[in-house]
Amino acid sequence: MKRYTAALCVVSSFAANTFAPTQADLDRDLASAAAEWHTETGDTRIEMQDIGPCRVGDIIALRRATVRTSRLVFDDGSSGPEVSAASYVIEINSECRWTELWLQRAVTHEVGHISKGVTDQHSNNPKSIMFRVVYPDAKHPQGILPEDR
Ligand SMILES: [Zn+2]
Repeated sequence: MKRYTAALCVVSSFAANTFAPTQADLDRDLASAAAEWHTETGDTRIEMQDIGPCRVGDIIALRRATVRTSRLVFDDGSSGPEVSAASYVIEINSECRWTELWLQRAVTHEVGHISKGVTDQHSNNPKSIMFRVVYPDAKHPQGILPEDR
């Protein structure tokens, strides 16, 4: 069993209209991110977690993946191909002062990685939700671009 962790970091401070997300908020954002990516997140959990301080350069969200590999066995007992299944936990830093927009973007970013598999590729386009920085403010529009799919 292999485990991976990937983190998304803060780029700028921001403190207007903040709120403390509830589990219902997280589940709603996870469901809407999955719909935006046209992907399934059946084996994904999302939770608030104290990851540490939330200043510039600190972590706002993490994604932990657990990959289980098993070998299929045919009816006659012979050995078949190996198959892998991944499950994920998205941790949202409870120390950050979240806004609705920032949280939704962070979740959409993490689900984007999940929809692409266990990779950590980022877009070079700052307008992409898969840019390595997820901006907290509406001044920097970000979304899923055609090239992200
Ligand atoms: Zn990322």
